Amino acid sequence: MGRKRVLITGAAGFLGSHLCDRFIREDFHVIAMDNLITGDLRNIEHLFKLENFEFCHHDVSTYVNVPGKLDYILHFASPASPIDYLKIPIQTLKVGSLGIHNLLGLARKKNARILIASTSEVYGDPTVNPQPEEYWGNVNPVGPRGVYDEAKRFQEAMTMAYHTFHGLETRIVRIFNTYGPRMRLNDGRVLPAFIGQALRGEDLTVFGDGSQTRSFCYVDDLVEGIYRLLFSDYALPVNIGNPDEITIKQFGEEIIKLTGTKQKMVFEPLPTDDPKQRRPDITKAKALLGWEPKVDRAKGLKITYEYFKSLPEQEIQHKDFTYYNK
Ligand code: UDP
Repeated sequence: MGRKRVLITGAAGFLGSHLCDRFIREDFHVIAMDNLITGDLRNIEHLFKLENFEFCHHDVSTYVNVPGKLDYILHFASPASPIDYLKIPIQTLKVGSLGIHNLLGLARKKNARILIASTSEVYGDPTVNPQPEEYWGNVNPVGPRGVYDEAKRFQEAMTMAYHTFHGLETRIVRIFNTYGPRMRLNDGRVLPAFIGQALRGEDLTVFGDGSQTRSFCYVDDLVEGIYRLLFSDYALPVNIGNPDEITIKQFGEEIIKLTGTKQKMVFEPLPTDDPKQRRPDITKAKALLGWEPKVDRAKGLKITYEYFKSLPEQEIQHKDFTYYNK
């Protein structure tokens, strides 16, 4: 019979690389695709020697060709931090629109099941908390986050259309804030920002008064939820995230304690359209997948801090936003 074959896009990124690890562990043949704009080959270089792993340097916004059979596609290619959207807005829109069209076409041709990475950003700056899947969202299409939010919303619509019109097997995961090893230290997200600042002996920059909330999920929990969703028979979107909600100010205090930094928090203006609250309602994931997060923040943050500490000093000191591969 041979191994089941899975295509993972965005494979050199934070979530994509952890998914590669998981599918390799489950004895799949993994075809890892990435254009390396925001991805980093170091995240997957340990897999290159394996006979059931192959890397394909390709931008999924252009026609995607994969020789041989394909059983599953996981679409995780996309810039995914607010700074990315500002720096590369057009690519962000293209991968969520042209990219998904190419991959849905590929899934049809190969008769493969496709799972797409959607996001809590489809809820925008939500007026209900926690957010259930039935909430339609509060999104500003022309704000700085619009290029990401609307691409992801279009991606969901396109995926559902292929499901209903072509009968394609599709899965949609709405991912809430996730953290863990292999996040980019300079991607502008709050966790790498705070830990990087602590490691360099700088003050921690809190945007706004820090009363906005987020709910942080450790990457291993997220991967488990995605794995279960792929093998479920549910085609509507499912939230995967950790409902343990905290304010960004409290989060800063936790990072100060964890790292033992002598620095303090300093307050800067809140970015445009920054959501005031975010917390997943995971009733559906619990009922459908028997899934809930297992790793608490204290444990997850400790592992993540060790990872960032182990990076080359030069990288820790290089605080300006960069793409490693440019
Ligand atoms: N944030 C902050 N300081 C930073 C980076 C981010 O206070 O140096 C805040 C940001 O304004 C937001 C929250 O932390 O309210 C989470 O930001 P992130 O970019 O990680 O993800 P988001 O959930 O906003 O997409």
